[in-house]
Amino acid sequence: MGCNEALNKALPSAFTVKQRMNSTNSIWEDESIFCKNDFLIIGGGLAGLWCAFELQLKFKNARILILERGIFPTGASTRNAGFACFGSPTEMMYNADVMGEDKMWATVEMRYKGILKIRKIFGDAVIDYDHCGGYECLQHAQALQVDEKLPWLNKRMKAITGNENSFSWSNEKLDQFGLKGFDNLIENSWEGGLHSGKLVLALQKHLQSNGVLILMGMEVSSIQKYESGYEVLTQVNQTFTTTNLIYCTNAFTQNLLPALAVTPARGQVVVTSPIDGLQLKGTFHYDEGYYYFRNVGNRVLLGGARNKSFDNENTTELTTTPSIQDELFRFLTMHILPGKQFTLTNQWSGIMGFTANKEPVVEKVDENAYAVISCNGMGVALSPVIAEKVAAMF
Ligand SMILES: Cc1cc2nc3c(=O)[nH]c(=O)nc-3n(C[C@H](O)[C@H](O)[C@H](O)COP(=O)(O)OP(=O)(O)OC[C@H]3O[C@@H](n4cnc5c(N)ncnc54)[C@H](O)[C@@H]3O)c2cc1C
Repeated sequence: MGCNEALNKALPSAFTVKQRMNSTNSIWEDESIFCKNDFLIIGGGLAGLWCAFELQLKFKNARILILERGIFPTGASTRNAGFACFGSPTEMMYNADVMGEDKMWATVEMRYKGILKIRKIFGDAVIDYDHCGGYECLQHAQALQVDEKLPWLNKRMKAITGNENSFSWSNEKLDQFGLKGFDNLIENSWEGGLHSGKLVLALQKHLQSNGVLILMGMEVSSIQKYESGYEVLTQVNQTFTTTNLIYCTNAFTQNLLPALAVTPARGQVVVTSPIDGLQLKGTFHYDEGYYYFRNVGNRVLLGGARNKSFDNENTTELTTTPSIQDELFRFLTMHILPGKQFTLTNQWSGIMGFTANKEPVVEKVDENAYAVISCNGMGVALSPVIAEKVAAMF
């Protein structure tokens, strides 16, 4: 059966006649781009791309379409900090309180496996993966709390990584990295940094070479259910049909699925000019992950300070604000680059999606419709693994 026949068979008859008569598509377009899909994914960020990856792996001949509203993914996936991380000690301790210990460790394990999976599939060179280690900067009082929990952290981490001492104190490196104003430093030897843009492009390239269609500039405005699937309408008046639908719209989900409680949270980032003799090397967390910084070659990337203005930052506006940018500049000059000359070359924001219990959502929202949402600010490592869960649901 050709694509047109499949489409006509799938659609209700009144709709089919009208659609066929009014179609301004060429027959070539009808028989390639507008065929009915087996899976239609809304959102072309990391979650959408990894879902397509897993579905294509499982259903080799399935027709899979990704619709992305931007001309490239326009949320978090190409606007993040590129930490391939699975959590700093204070963040883990906090998450254990919020989610419960078991769920926190399950999330850590998914992130650990996610990092291994990304590296295995693409290879470190393609995505600029640097196994530089992850660090958390601490003040004395927090360091005492972490020290008390360290045996528990390392015991549970051993079950995941097989390594005795995933976390170890490395206070002597504070000076080595040129950091000021922190009392202690704890190291996690399993983390690294990667190039988020190159990861997204590598995924797109892989998917397209395996027959997945990715259409950009396609903002989905509404969705209608009919007896054998869904009709997906876009802002540019193009309509697509599908048997199965997957929402990967992260912080923007409320526009299409108001019942799903996902709160947007803006993250602002700055990057410095190149710095001669930069000593900083690694990915660094501070203040339960509210501040994060790393070296990118001989430049410094710093993001965060959302906790200085939670209300203002609960937004989907992709803009920066003077108050957070000033705070990031202050943090750079006080803690990371004291006494160094630098300018800022890039200042941007991205939008994360948060759930109340900090768990990602992988759930059925309607018949043959699923949501894979909200990696809660840690989706680089998490999305490759949660995508496996949705593929297992089909
Ligand atoms: C500043 C910042 C720093 C971060 N740093 C890290 C980090 O270092 N490490 C880490 O693991 N995680 C980090 N994250 C989080 C990580 O980037 C996200 O968890 C991950 O990218 C989420 O992927 P996603 O595909 O779910 O969401 P997104 O990347 O936001 O993708 C959702 C996509 O859906 C599209 N969309 C929305 N509505 C529609 C519609 N109606 N029609 C069509 N398309 C639509 C959007 O344009 C968007 O491209 C950071 C996030 C930010 C903002």
